[in-house]
Amino acid sequence: MKKRNQLLVLVLLFTLILSLAAFAEEGRFLKVTAYGVNIRAGAGTDTDVIGRADFGDSFEVLQVADDWYQVRLAKGEVGWIHASLVQEGARFAAADRSIEEVEAKEPGVNVRGGASTSFEVVTTIGPGTRYLLLQKSGDWVQIRLPDERTGWVAAWLVNLSENKVKSTASSERQQATVIASQLNVRRAASLSSEVIGTLQQNEIVQVRTVREEGWLQIEYGEGVGYIASEYVRLPGQSVQSATTSPLDSSQPTLTLKAQVNLRTGPGTNFPVIETARTGSQFSILAKSGAWYQIAAGSEQKAWVAGWLVEVNGSLSGIREEQPTLDSSLRGTTIVLDAGHGGIDVGAIGRASGAFEKDLNLSLAQMLANKLITTGAHVVMTRADDRFLSLQGRVEIAEDNRADLFVSLHYNTHQDPSLSGSITFYHSEAGEDRRAAERVQQELVRSLGLPDLGARFGDYYVLRENQTPAILVETAFLTHVEDERHATDLAAQEKAAEGIFRGIVAVFEE
Ligand SMILES: [Zn+2]
Repeated sequence: MKKRNQLLVLVLLFTLILSLAAFAEEGRFLKVTAYGVNIRAGAGTDTDVIGRADFGDSFEVLQVADDWYQVRLAKGEVGWIHASLVQEGARFAAADRSIEEVEAKEPGVNVRGGASTSFEVVTTIGPGTRYLLLQKSGDWVQIRLPDERTGWVAAWLVNLSENKVKSTASSERQQATVIASQLNVRRAASLSSEVIGTLQQNEIVQVRTVREEGWLQIEYGEGVGYIASEYVRLPGQSVQSATTSPLDSSQPTLTLKAQVNLRTGPGTNFPVIETARTGSQFSILAKSGAWYQIAAGSEQKAWVAGWLVEVNGSLSGIREEQPTLDSSLRGTTIVLDAGHGGIDVGAIGRASGAFEKDLNLSLAQMLANKLITTGAHVVMTRADDRFLSLQGRVEIAEDNRADLFVSLHYNTHQDPSLSGSITFYHSEAGEDRRAAERVQQELVRSLGLPDLGARFGDYYVLRENQTPAILVETAFLTHVEDERHATDLAAQEKAAEGIFRGIVAVFEE
């Protein structure tokens, strides 16, 4: 073994021991991810309820038995909570932590493989970026670099600053819950920024700053990341408490089977008024397709998705409003194909350097979130950054007996003045052309880029597909204004909304 390798092993071992020690110190904690959770005397629903916990409450874990956690309550008591209602993680440690960060005093500061100038330079850093301090050794400090790498810099070339990480026990601490099925975490507050991870629905994140233009800075891993604020619920957003709605005995009621968004209209395209808790009960005022209008307060009316509720009583006297925009999608299977992935980055944004693969995935996730809430069954050919063959993509559509395959891309052209959206189809005769025309029409209407039409395209994923299939080229990454639309969150949302409405139109006919 070479000397350098031996040293590397030593450093790695040391880092491991340090992180293990940190874990032991912090202990195991869990966070409650639902409202009105029962705390029981034992590990079973047949035991007494001895207390209640709410979303965001944090407890120390004493032991785990089957699907139950034993936790420490206030005043040293203990109780049991079911595992499905909590999320565990050492990062929810109750103690205040402070992290030290390192920032170079001047440009071009060498970062080396070890704590002396005899080690090779692995990279250089400059002012403006802070790195997490891992350890100190003499006049040297070890820092965490991007991509899980570490390196050493001379302490006299950097400034150290302490950054207090507040306890989750603090009520000032902002937490947000992910409401999308999946949500990208990015390195910066832009869609063109690198995706550093993915959050799942109901995951809780610690919000550091609420940025304008739809982004939140959150704690992620050892550092920070950025997420689109639209897909999380912040504690400030009111949550309707259970059974507060005035119930009229002559009217049918509904009970929410999950935490549900109350909207201004009968469809996921309408804004969310507030979120109501599981178990909340409301009077039904009207019906529209798969949606119910409810009395959300003494004055307020709102709409909820029918597949998220249980109806009590007869609906025979209930007025039926016009069918909704998206009720036609219930029960359909839509395959969303985020083009490229992994080593295949696709096109590269001229000004932003954004990879097409990342924009495609982000657009696919936005679209999936819209489709899922209408009751459509959505299958993603890829839900993360991975390489997938064209044949593999087509097989996913066929294995799922999909009703529609939608491949999502961003375009390039040698002529940088070419701007606009195109939707491609392969078969003139079948569903393909009609689907492409509908989606193209709504995409252009919503996004507002030039209409380059629904066109024939000889693409593998269209040609070799038994499923009705279209390929959307939302905008050109070689055109300045198009690229801005591609990498801007609000504009991408418009593109997703347009494609969504187009898909709805396909199934409405
Ligand atoms: Zn592409």
